Amino acid sequence: MTPGTLTATERRRLRELLHKKRLATKEQQAALGDVMNDIRDARTDTQADDEHDPEGPTMSSEWSRITGLQGEAEGELLEIDRALNRLDDGSFGVCARCGNPIGVERLKARPTTELCISCARLAESG
Ligand SMILES: [Zn+2]
Repeated sequence: MTPGTLTATERRRLRELLHKKRLATKEQQAALGDVMNDIRDARTDTQADDEHDPEGPTMSSEWSRITGLQGEAEGELLEIDRALNRLDDGSFGVCARCGNPIGVERLKARPTTELCISCARLAESG
């Protein structure tokens, strides 16, 4: 069984892609952290008259939106690291479910995927 059908060049490109994605996700995480700090500061500032705080609900929904995005970024980083590990151990580009090679076009579009297109469709349909 050949581990996928990726050429050395394709593997290198996908690794670069994953590194870029990792960097961008890290930056996004840092930016979200800044926004969270701002919201925290704003909350402290307005604490004096929180009796009628028109921004209260808006802020808490913004807060949950940001923490949601943080969670997503966190999960994405884990996926990226797993994909990079798979690149190292040679299991990258092989479907985790059926063991068939994952199409290179699919990998370029979603380099963190662990499933081939047919398994992904099965998983999505429940
Ligand atoms: Zn599969």
